[in-house]
Amino acid sequence: MEFADRLLTCSDCGGEFIFTAGEQLFFHDKQFKNDPKRCKPCKSKRAGAKAGAGPAAAGISRTETRTHCSECGVETTVPFKPTQGRPVLCRQCFQSKRPVAEPAAQELPVAAEAAMTSQA
Ligand SMILES: [Zn+2]
Ligand SMILES: [Zn+2]
Repeated sequence: MEFADRLLTCSDCGGEFIFTAGEQLFFHDKQFKNDPKRCKPCKSKRAGAKAGAGPAAAGISRTETRTHCSECGVETTVPFKPTQGRPVLCRQCFQSKRPVAEPAAQELPVAAEAAMTSQA
């Protein structure tokens, strides 16, 4: 069977895209009866939307956990799950505890990250 590139119209964006001979062969091999309906960008957009359930999808939907500062007791949210027995500090306490000049992030890497993101 011979295949030649065909021009199809994307049902999502209405743009034209090429259904290449190679792709047609692939479809033929797989016995797909229908032509592809979407161009590659739209297809990957859809795939991305479907996979969007993952936490890293948008980079925004981080888990915010409500907790209380172990230092002053104020309610605060942290972008991570607080570990049992580990002190969770609110922004202010965290900043006041942290030596200003020292890169002391080694002991509380997550909290340090929290402080950094919260400044934005
Ligand atoms: Zn499209
Ligand atoms: Zn506090």
